[in-house]
Amino acid sequence: MTDRETRITPLHGAGGELMDELLARLILPRFGKKGSGRIALSALDDGATVALPKTGELVITTDNHVVKPIFFPGGDIGRLAAAGTLNDLAVMGARPIVLTLAAIIEEGFPIADLERILDSFAAALAETDAVVACGDTKVMPAGDLDGIVLNTTGLGVAEHAVSDAELKKGDVVLVSGTIGDHGMALLAARAEFRLSTVLQSDVAVLWPMIERVLKVGGIHAMKDPTRGGLAAALNEMARKSGTCIEIEDAAIPLRPEVVGLSDLLGISPLEVANEGKAILIVAPEKADAVLAALRGHPLGANAAIIGRVIDEHPRRVILATEVGGRRFLDMPLGDPVPRIC
Ligand code: MG
Repeated sequence: MTDRETRITPLHGAGGELMDELLARLILPRFGKKGSGRIALSALDDGATVALPKTGELVITTDNHVVKPIFFPGGDIGRLAAAGTLNDLAVMGARPIVLTLAAIIEEGFPIADLERILDSFAAALAETDAVVACGDTKVMPAGDLDGIVLNTTGLGVAEHAVSDAELKKGDVVLVSGTIGDHGMALLAARAEFRLSTVLQSDVAVLWPMIERVLKVGGIHAMKDPTRGGLAAALNEMARKSGTCIEIEDAAIPLRPEVVGLSDLLGISPLEVANEGKAILIVAPEKADAVLAALRGHPLGANAAIIGRVIDEHPRRVILATEVGGRRFLDMPLGDPVPRIC
């Protein structure tokens, strides 16, 4: 095979014959199917058409994905890009309808790796009814970019969009599973630490689980604890709503490998990203039913009630320890792991 068949060249992003070839070979076989209404990538027009919902609200979100390494234990940048965008829609209470997929690729990037990434993206997308409606490819000269960057925009429809700020005193705080898996798995995978561990990223598509949980009702707020982890997400929710969240340290589900790595590296599992988890703030009378609905789905098997909304210190998060101590869980300055998602 010639070099241009196995590696990305500047012409692959240059709008001519070679880009058409890339579209026909890599993109259309994976994403060319028609969505609901008139959404069809295969039209290859200047824009895609999406029929407006008769009722409900449109929800839109966008993300850049710069994760390092591109292939990591439990996933890759393709699965991460799809899940990240789908999950932002899901925690808004929105059924994902359309995603865009734009790639900036370094010259010389192996086309076989690009195919693996696109396969992962397509597999994650297939866990919902959403389709890719449009996209773009640009190529940067070798050395000007580290491999590949993906941008995804997602459009969804919510009956009633769920915000991350409608917390009320007495509400119960739940997480859908173990915390810190993605951040710690990526840290372990980075060569500079040379750690071998069985830990995998939790990168997952949450909509099928959240769709089931929304039917239970009583959900006042949701958020996916990505960059900055549980600590950042809870602080954001407390600040926006002017409430105080108290969580119990011992109630937070943590994998033993995550605890081990966290002790070794001195990085809190509460401050690193999750890519397949949701925080749910639920009316007290619905908390048990929501917990049961979460646990009834494979992604929610380790779901737990971790705390409550109280009115002690507005806009703060309190961590209660097993021995009876209480301290503020502060907003992290930023995620301690760079290029986490
Ligand atoms: Mg989010």
